[in-house]
Amino acid sequence: MEKIDTLIIGAGAVGLAVAGALSSNGHIVFVIEKNKMFGMETSSRNSEVIHSGLYYPTGSLKHILCIKGNTELYMLAKKTGINFRQTGNL
Ligand SMILES: Cc1cc2nc3c(=O)[nH]c(=O)nc-3n(C[C@H](O)[C@H](O)[C@H](O)COP(=O)(O)OP(=O)(O)OC[C@H]3O[C@@H](n4cnc5c(N)ncnc54)[C@H](O)[C@@H]3O)c2cc1C
Repeated sequence: MEKIDTLIIGAGAVGLAVAGALSSNGHIVFVIEKNKMFGMETSSRNSEVIHSGLYYPTGSLKHILCIKGNTELYMLAKKTGINFRQTGNL
């Protein structure tokens, strides 16, 4: 039987991001998903907004992580050739 370091339950955006980060650091990761494919629940049904943190109190963890994630997501999209539009907030 294969030996693994980490078992992740759920192949949504969060589970896959954690799996990606761990496996790129040499961990043997196993992801279990109840659906036939990854990303078939909340992660594929959201509004596709890349948040800037404006809905959260200044200095809160959500606010800080939104700003960090916003920068990193645009950088990742550019690096990997994923198209996006920065439309601002209407
Ligand atoms: C209406 C709506 C709009 C949103 N809009 C945005 C947006 O514009 N921008 C943004 O950044 N965020 C948005 N969000 C939030 C964002 O979509 C979620 O925070 C994110 O998708 C959650 O990812 P997740 O991996 O935690 O959950 P999920 O994508 O739900 O993944 C969890 C996975 O676990 C699996 N699972 C559950 N239980 C088991 C089990 N027992 N065994 C095996 N597998 C299991 C599920 O099948 C699923 O695939 C929105 C959320 C909603 C609801």
